[in-house]
Formats: sequence, C-alpha cells, structure tokens
Amino acid sequence: MKPHILICNDDGIYAPGIMALYEAVRDIGEVTVVAPDAEQSAVGHAITLSNPIKIKRVRRNAQFKGYAVVGTPADCIKLAVTVLMERPPDLIISGINLGPNVGISVIYSGTVSAATEGAILGIPSMAISLATFEDPLWETAAHVARRLTQEIIARGLPADTLLNVNVPNRPLDQVKGLAVTRVGRSRFAEIFHKRTNPRGDTYYWMDGELRIIGDTAGTDIQALADGFVSLTPIWFDLTHTAVLPKLRDWNLTL
Ligand code: MN
Repeated sequence: MKPHILICNDDGIYAPGIMALYEAVRDIGEVTVVAPDAEQSAVGHAITLSNPIKIKRVRRNAQFKGYAVVGTPADCIKLAVTVLMERPPDLIISGINLGPNVGISVIYSGTVSAATEGAILGIPSMAISLATFEDPLWETAAHVARRLTQEIIARGLPADTLLNVNVPNRPLDQVKGLAVTRVGRSRFAEIFHKRTNPRGDTYYWMDGELRIIGDTAGTDIQALADGFVSLTPIWFDLTHTAVLPKLRDWNLTL
C-alpha cells in the first residue's frame, strides 16, 4: 500500500510553497492536503476552542485537492488525523514555509507547530522552511523535501521527534550539503512601529530583529549561513531538569 502523506503549512492553502511541496511528493504516496484557509504564520501551537472550525474543500490545478480550515496549523493536524482522513497518515509534512524557522522562531512558528502536533500524535513529522522572504527558489526546497520524504518513509523517525528542516535559498548545485544541527539560541529584539489611525487612535505594528545568543557552532542558524540544509531533531521535554534540585533547595512550605 502506498504511504499516506498529510501536508499542512502556516502560510495557507493557497500559498506557493504548499503547492511546491505537493508537487514534490505526490507520486511517493497518497497525499492529503489540510491547511489553514489564510496565513497563520507565527501563531505557534495555538488551537481553536472558542470558535467553530469551518472547513471547505479546495481544488488547485488539476490534481491538488484538499481542505481549507478556518483554524490554526495545529487545528489542521488534529482535525485531519481524527476526522478528515480515512486512515492515519504515515508521514506529516508541514511547509514549504516562506522564511526560515531557526533559533527562537521554532517556538513562534505555525509551520513547526503542525509537525509538533504530528509528533504528539505519534506520527513521523517534518517541517520544512525556505530561508528567504523574497525570490524563493522553491525547486531547491522541493528537492530536499522529496529526498527526506523518501528517507523518512524508509527509516521512520524516533518517537516524539520531529525533523525541522531549513533550506538555504540558492540553486541546488550551490547547496553545500546537509548538516545535522541543534537549535541556535536567539531572541527577537522587538521593534514597535507607532502609528495613528484616521480617528486619532494610536496603534502599533510589531517587528523584530533576530539577535543571536552565544556560540553558533553546530546550530541551524550557522548551517544556513554557511549554505547547508539544516536538519534538526526536535522534541519537547519542557522540564528544566537541572533546576529541579535548586528549586527543591528553596524548601518552600505553605
Ligand atoms: Mn509561515
């Protein structure tokens, strides 16, 4: 039986990146596309509880069929796996995102969160992002997506692990190779642009600059800068174990 592949993203079902991903893997398996109806970048792992989650069947070109979901990337994965798909997927791929998801962006990223949700559900999952916001070379990222899809279908992924993939925006023959990396430490230095609306009310646009923290050796950030495809295994074990004894040493009582 052909593997069943679920595709999602956070740029929305009409984004060019999700079409590039679909085209790259559609002959490898039976592909189902379930993605937000509009852009949901930087919504992180949000889920929709206070509103109904509407769905709409979508067709793009001749083959591409899917569901547009009025919800978040994490909603899409939950809904697809639980309700929309006849059998659970063998692999979930989220992307191809326009823009890198390295360093602290992994936390904010809806693209990564779709793959995280997949890993939580026990399904091998991969997020793939193209490190540019202009003139995207989708074919490079599509090649990487196809190559890794074949590999994950053959090998599987370790439990509770998602693969976070970032592709440099350059022609394939100028990509230096694949680097296995760790998530670089970084944060955004917030910039709020202050504006006034026609009624005289103040509002803000959030913007930010990525600030790198500490040594970048071996990180996703460095691999991209050096022209490599970055492969980072990610899991979520949120307890800071080293701090447990320190906190116990507080000897707190009520
Ligand atoms: Mn995005």
